[in-house]
Amino acid sequence: MLCPRCRTEMEISNHGGVEIDRCPRCGGVFLDKGEMESITERAVASVVDMHPSFEQVAADQPAICRCGEEMMEITGADEVRFDWCMSCEGTFFDAGELRQIDAFRAD
Ligand SMILES: [Zn+2]
Ligand SMILES: [Zn+2]
Repeated sequence: MLCPRCRTEMEISNHGGVEIDRCPRCGGVFLDKGEMESITERAVASVVDMHPSFEQVAADQPAICRCGEEMMEITGADEVRFDWCMSCEGTFFDAGELRQIDAFRAD
């Protein structure tokens, strides 16, 4: 799939049996419906989101989901911002956003 943010072809990385789409350019991470729960259980979000040196990509356009719909920007608990697709319930995190979620912190 293409990155919802910068339209670069995403790479699939496997984390504890959970396959996650991640963008090699901007570091964004796309989670299909249900994958959010999987990575919470396995506490691998910090691994998913560990690289700080990705290219900054302006978020001035709506992210486009893998299903083609525009994603909604949502602010959740702990002021974490992410993009959510009403159509397929996919979730997209820009680099650095995922680790801000309390439940994902290792400590
Ligand atoms: Zn990207
Ligand atoms: Zn979608």
